[in-house]
Amino acid sequence: MQFRDLKRQYQVLKDKLDPAISEVLTNADFISGSAVSELERELAEYVGVKHCITCANGTDALTLALMAWGIGEGDAVFVPDFTFFATAETVAYEGAVPVFVDVEESSFNLLPQSLEKAVCEVLKQGKLTPRAIIAVDLFGQPADFVRIRTIAKRYGLLLLEDGAQGFGGRIGEKRACSFGDISTTSFFPAKPLGCYGDGGAVFTDHDSWAELIRSYRVHGKGKDKYDNIRVGMNSRLDTLQAAVLRVKLEAFREYELEAVNCVAARYADGLNELVGIPIVEEGFYSSFAQYSILLASEKEREGLKEFLKKRDIPSMVYYPKAMHELEAFRVVPHFVELNNASDICGRVLALPIHPYLTEEEQDKVIGAVKDYFLR
Ligand SMILES: *Cc1c(COP(=O)(O)O)cnc(C)c1O
Repeated sequence: MQFRDLKRQYQVLKDKLDPAISEVLTNADFISGSAVSELERELAEYVGVKHCITCANGTDALTLALMAWGIGEGDAVFVPDFTFFATAETVAYEGAVPVFVDVEESSFNLLPQSLEKAVCEVLKQGKLTPRAIIAVDLFGQPADFVRIRTIAKRYGLLLLEDGAQGFGGRIGEKRACSFGDISTTSFFPAKPLGCYGDGGAVFTDHDSWAELIRSYRVHGKGKDKYDNIRVGMNSRLDTLQAAVLRVKLEAFREYELEAVNCVAARYADGLNELVGIPIVEEGFYSSFAQYSILLASEKEREGLKEFLKKRDIPSMVYYPKAMHELEAFRVVPHFVELNNASDICGRVLALPIHPYLTEEEQDKVIGAVKDYFLR
């Protein structure tokens, strides 16, 4: 069994993917080909925002947003303590301080009370300027943007949605990657919408930020690539990846997102009496980038992981360490208590999930978890 079966997806979509790739090879428009602008139009329309700017990966997408806001030395950016490294890494790379905020055990997402406390503590200390919040849609579920937006407004902070795992999620009818002042996503192969290499995108309704990001993306270009009006980077999405993504976006919209939610619903039915299952809040819809369960202890988690492995069922620990526990952030000061993230890191386990997981495979996973507890 595969944790995320990209080979099976390719077999299903091969008849559309092969000609799409071949067309790019025939036209040899590898950089900024027509598939890129067509994809950007389709993504903006799907997400429901004015501008989509594709780029080389989800990490660059975050960096481009921070650059557009001029975030740097002396600034504080609030990030969840439980996320993928890049969320906080990009802040530190720009010279700003990532201020870690605790998360909720039920949704794994940013805890609004902890966020507000962190902002107040930074203000009280008076050394850093609070500038922005990065809220992550962890494992596919959008963060609590209604409450987070209220806090952002109260303290005059910019809101960045890291939707690297959230693409396809919703709150009510509003789609993920539309909740931030700027929002970003990643097309890394294992993300909800993945390409065949690295890729990413930035979303915003704001015209002048969009224009700035388009410039930063190509060496700070002005009216053309050789009229450089600021220092930027080289972070384009390849035409080949855009061609792949256009095919995959169609499948994602038509059935993949629903299929992955069907798997999650069957897992929930089969597992909810044995383990902590992911809770999707009322009115929220998850794209289930991961199906992460919570065990009672680290010992129980490690035992289950081994047990599944013996039955040829892969599982993963996302993430083994909280941000504040990482060596790279050893010297970053803490402003609030960070208890939940560390606790979750010891007890969390992600089970195989993807739109092509058969019912037979799902039953094998559920059966194995049951057997582990009833041994
Ligand atoms: C994957 C991921 C990123 C980075 O995306 P890349 O395309 O791998 O650079 C950023 N944030 C989160 C939450 C992610 O899961």
